[in-house]
Amino acid sequence: MSRGLVSIVGAGPGDPDLITVKALKRIQSADVIMYDRLVNDQLLAEAPEGALRIYCGKAPGLHSMNQEMIGRMLAAHAAEGKQVVRLKGGDPFIFGRGGEEALVLAEAGIAFDIIPGITSAVGTSASSLIPLTHRGVASSFACVTGTGSDGSISSVRWDLLAHSVDTLVIYMGISQLPQIQHELLHHGKSGSTPIALIERGTTSEERIITGTLAELHALALLHQVNNPALIMVGESVLVREQLLQMQQAANASMTG
Ligand code: SAH
Repeated sequence: MSRGLVSIVGAGPGDPDLITVKALKRIQSADVIMYDRLVNDQLLAEAPEGALRIYCGKAPGLHSMNQEMIGRMLAAHAAEGKQVVRLKGGDPFIFGRGGEEALVLAEAGIAFDIIPGITSAVGTSASSLIPLTHRGVASSFACVTGTGSDGSISSVRWDLLAHSVDTLVIYMGISQLPQIQHELLHHGKSGSTPIALIERGTTSEERIITGTLAELHALALLHQVNNPALIMVGESVLVREQLLQMQQAANASMTG
C-alpha cells in the first residue's frame, strides 16, 4: 500500500483561476478532499469523480466540525494510504489554522506538506486596484485579524498599528467594525484616512466600497457589507481612485 499524504492546500482568494498549478495538481489526484466554506465550488469539480468530498464548514461563530475532529479525520484517511487534500480559502498559514492542523498530523506521524495560496489581502489588493505598497505613499503593510479567538475585538496593538504601518489590512473585522474604527481613531489615526471595504473580493460578486475612517461603520451599514470581507486602511486606497479616473479617461479617448 502506498503511503498516504495530507496536503494542506491554499485555494486562493475566491476566483477559482487564482490557484497555483501545484495546488490544482494535488486536487486533481486527490482521493479525499476536506474543504472549508470559503473554497470555490468550481475547484471541487476538479477532483476525480470518485474522490470523497467532506465539508468542514465553519460559518462565523458556528463550528460544524471542530479542529480536533478535522485533524483526526485527516490522519485516519492518510493512514489508509490515501492522498488527502485539506483545502482552505486563501493561504493555509494566514488566519487559516493550517499550522494547528499540521501540528496534529506531525504528532500522529502522518506525512504532510503545505501548498501556499494567494491570501485574500493580496488577491483583493490586485482586484480592487489598491496597492499594498506604493512608492512615496506606502512602504509597509500589515495583515491583522479584527476578531480575537473569544469572538470579541482582537487584542492586536491598535495603538501601534495606528502609526507604524502604512496600509493596514484587517481580516475578520466586519463583526467588530465600530470597535475597530474607535480603536484607530482613539489612538490618533486621522478620521480622513482613506479606507476600503472589499466584499467577496476577486469573485464575480465582488463589491468595493471606499470612504474615510470616520465613515467606516456607517458605510458598512449603508451598504450592508457581509462576510467574507476585508477592511483596508491607508493612503494607497487613493491610488485606486487615481487609476480608475485615468482608466476612464483612456477609455473615453479611445471611443471618442
Ligand atoms: N486563509 C484565508 C483567511 C481566512 S480568515 C486567507 O488567506 O485569505 C477569513 C477572512 O478572510 C474573512 O473574514 C475575510 O476577512 C477574509 N477573506 C477571505 N476571502 C475573502 C474575499 N474573497 N474577499 C474579502 N475577504 C476575504
